[in-house]
Amino acid sequence: MLSADCIFCKIASKEIPADIVYEDEKIMVFHDLNKVAPVHVLVIPKKHIENMLDAEQEEGLLGHLMKSVATIAKMTNVAEDGFRLVSNTKENGGQTVPHLHFHLLGGRALDWPPG
Ligand code: AMP
Ligand code: ZN
Repeated sequence: MLSADCIFCKIASKEIPADIVYEDEKIMVFHDLNKVAPVHVLVIPKKHIENMLDAEQEEGLLGHLMKSVATIAKMTNVAEDGFRLVSNTKENGGQTVPHLHFHLLGGRALDWPPG
């Protein structure tokens, strides 16, 4: 997919609105439209990368994103009780938006294994 057609690129550039929790020069965090847990935010790189399979050359960006998770977890009040961070990838993973994103889910006990 071209990044010009990508909904998360449009959110990252503020072409379309989102309920933004946090952003810096490299990443953005916003509430999922269809939340499946009391806390459900999406953590995305602003750069268009389709999924983890296209992120092999992105160590710096991924490192920055991952180390930001602790801050985001504290901001969304899930650090104390815990949370899940998941990135659905392609068809079998259930990925519906082809721009790399991590769901940060918390606020309740989550089942394992996933369905
Ligand atoms: P996935 O199915 O893992 O690719 O996750 C995509 C997520 O993006 C879903 O949980 C959707 O609810 C969410 N989503 C899609 N469009 C928007 C949007 N415009 N604003 C916020 N969340 C969105
Ligand atoms: Zn994109």
